[in-house]
Amino acid sequence: MPNGIRFFIFGFDMYPPWTTIDEAARLLKSGEVVAIPTETVYGLAGNAFDPNSLAKIFAAKERPTFDPLIVHICDISQMSEVAQNIPEEAYALAKMYWPGPMTLILPKKDIIPDLCTSALPTVAVRFPSHPVAQEIIWKAGVPLAAPSANLFKHVSPTSAEHVANQLAGRISGIVDGGPCAVGVESTIISLVAEVPTVLRPGAVTPEMIEKVLGRVAIKESTSKPGEPMAAPGQMDTHYRPQVPLYYGVVPAGTPLPANAVRIAFGNQKGPIPATLNLSESGNLTEATSNLYAFMHDLDNPQYSLILVDPIPNVGVGMAINDRLKRASIKKI
Ligand code: AMP
Ligand code: MG
Repeated sequence: MPNGIRFFIFGFDMYPPWTTIDEAARLLKSGEVVAIPTETVYGLAGNAFDPNSLAKIFAAKERPTFDPLIVHICDISQMSEVAQNIPEEAYALAKMYWPGPMTLILPKKDIIPDLCTSALPTVAVRFPSHPVAQEIIWKAGVPLAAPSANLFKHVSPTSAEHVANQLAGRISGIVDGGPCAVGVESTIISLVAEVPTVLRPGAVTPEMIEKVLGRVAIKESTSKPGEPMAAPGQMDTHYRPQVPLYYGVVPAGTPLPANAVRIAFGNQKGPIPATLNLSESGNLTEATSNLYAFMHDLDNPQYSLILVDPIPNVGVGMAINDRLKRASIKKI
């Protein structure tokens, strides 16, 4: 655990609270909240059945309670512990893409507190593939609610160090499972809509869903930053670094500050030299796994502007476009 050693050397031997899998499970059982690795991003986990644990999650993140949490399970059969009237489509998708970066919206069982779902009659369920996440859920003995382990509106963490930077001192533990392989939040699919609908793009693409179900709809984002949401679960202002980020082609002749930096993709030409490259070969999966780590790296007051090259809006590139558009200022 190199991060732990480093923090120890600097004298912060109490914080961040680096935690083992067994200790994390024990803390979760006793109602505490612990950051755990998943293949998408790090999650801040708590017992999904316990309103007190859920309240601690919202408090630590400063997340408004109208933004519902995803419940994490460690076996397909556990889906029926938290959801009811589960359609066949859920099992078909689960068989294909679970464990993995896919969240299903299903009618909730009463055992899930309203706090978890922001009083929605539905619950978001995911079976993550990260072996550490699976072991912690299994050892905790209950499904775990786990939103991304960052402060509300900040960039999601893809390493234990990112979590420590934002939440150390606010939570009972952090389990270091290395960098997240996928690197963006899960695909969210509503199975309570007329047609199965992608509410948030992720690594499980619409094509992959259509292959299993034969049909899929994609919901356009409806809320506008700064305006009230149409319904819980439709926040549009996530993922913002503190340093202004501009996504897309910079209009010719735009004056740029001297301390602007650029996140490149592939071999595109840009207005300033590339500071970091998401994927020199133009590989979207590689780009996705680098995205948040690069945003964290460059979200530093020594820079005044982060430029990000345009990324093809196909496959998992749709997830990158979704997150970068939300993160972007509209004009330089
Ligand atoms: P995360 O921040 O990655 O934990 O994802 C939580 C997001 O899942 C919320 O912000 C919502 O967009 C979505 N979500 C969770 N529960 C529901 C639900 N019952 N219905 C619709 N969206 C949901
Ligand atoms: Mg989040």
